[in-house]
Amino acid sequence: MEEGDSILIDYWKHRCQVELSNLAIKVYNSEKYRDLLRQMPEPEVHFDIVSRNTAGFARFPNELHLNLHFLLRDKEQFVNTVVGHEFAHLIIFYLVKKGYLPKSTPGHGRAWKDMMRFLGLDPNTYYHEAQISDEDLNLNGLPSLRKQGNKFAYTCDCEGMIHTLGAIRHKRAQAKGARRAVYNCRNCKQPIKFSHVIEASDS
Ligand SMILES: [Zn+2]
Ligand SMILES: [Zn+2]
Repeated sequence: MEEGDSILIDYWKHRCQVELSNLAIKVYNSEKYRDLLRQMPEPEVHFDIVSRNTAGFARFPNELHLNLHFLLRDKEQFVNTVVGHEFAHLIIFYLVKKGYLPKSTPGHGRAWKDMMRFLGLDPNTYYHEAQISDEDLNLNGLPSLRKQGNKFAYTCDCEGMIHTLGAIRHKRAQAKGARRAVYNCRNCKQPIKFSHVIEASDS
């Protein structure tokens, strides 16, 4: 990896952190949410998604997982949309868990959209479901999509919910025939479906 590449990567990672801090200050200090979110743990950012089609996801209680390939391709747009999008999910997850919102609250429904607007963001931009081309993957210093990650993300019918399996359970879930194991979401009771690899990362 060239030194310039790593400085660039650090710069954009830092920009995500700053954006997250600004949004957190805005919501945690607000009259409307200050009391409701008093005990919400501070969000953490992990740049560990290895996927062609997932820009980011939120994991209860406080993890934002972001995809560096997308960050370095979309830069400013990513910082201004994906960080807030996933942070809004974390807040909604927390409000649901605390019983301030019903369990059936949809991932991108009204509560989430209201939170996006509260954060000053447009709920109609960006996407979990995005695509990255081979061309955009030729970036130095990034985790390779071909490298075997050691965690595997699964989705279910709960919007925005991510389940992670280790390599062994992932292998069982992907096996054919009688050896195949089916894992169900405890919340919606539906079988979980493989979504993408999460690389074990030191970032
Ligand atoms: Zn989302
Ligand atoms: Zn579910």
